[in-house]
Amino acid sequence: MIDTHSHIYDEAFDGDFEEVVARAREAGVEKIVTPGIDSASYRRMIDCADRLEGYAYPATGLHPTEVGENWREELQFVYDHFGDRQWVAIGEIGMDLYWSKDFLEQQREVFCAQLELAFEEDLPVIIHARDAQEEIFACIKKVAKPLRGAFHAFTGSYESYAQIKRLGDFKIGIGGVVTFKNAHVAAALERIPLEDVLLETDCPYLTPVPYRGRRNETSYVRFVAQKIAEIKGVDFECVDAVTTDNATNLFRFFKK
Ligand SMILES: [Zn+2]
Repeated sequence: MIDTHSHIYDEAFDGDFEEVVARAREAGVEKIVTPGIDSASYRRMIDCADRLEGYAYPATGLHPTEVGENWREELQFVYDHFGDRQWVAIGEIGMDLYWSKDFLEQQREVFCAQLELAFEEDLPVIIHARDAQEEIFACIKKVAKPLRGAFHAFTGSYESYAQIKRLGDFKIGIGGVVTFKNAHVAAALERIPLEDVLLETDCPYLTPVPYRGRRNETSYVRFVAQKIAEIKGVDFECVDAVTTDNATNLFRFFKK
């Protein structure tokens, strides 16, 4: 399996980082994508990537919830550090109107700028969309470039999925929410082809059943895969193989 969205460099893992990584490997996770957030967390992410070379692959980008007063400096930071190393994707980027609408205009500008960067650098994008689907669709249409990427933490309907597919070469990231009781994304997944699905945890957040409410970690991605297998009526190995292929084909897993 590939965990396509893991904040394993988060402080939540400071106390038992080695054990968390060992459990991920033991669970059958062969690679991890670690999306960027902002300048403050940058160093931690790079240190993690250096420590887990060939296992954890960092993406770079400014997260929409970190777009505030100093958004210009934060966006400039992404450009200034773009040449530091290789990146697996641009992310996580997008819009989040759930936490705040105060910087709606700026979120839009930052998102569009990073979509342009992804196009210029021929990298996939990792999109964070929370209460902002229409705005995000509008930005992608406005940029009007052929893009590829992942809609991370997808919890929408089949119709949302179909709209996403019309916008570009996008896959959807499925995480712990699918294991929750009455998760309506499960109904959508019945009709969404496995070829468009990526596994993710978003750890330390969004912990799947049976550990819901506790800290999430990458090894729990197996519960997500198991649930998807149940929904699709296929075996676990099939979900593992197909989603691993999907991630391998989408992201730029570089060799150093
Ligand atoms: Zn994230």
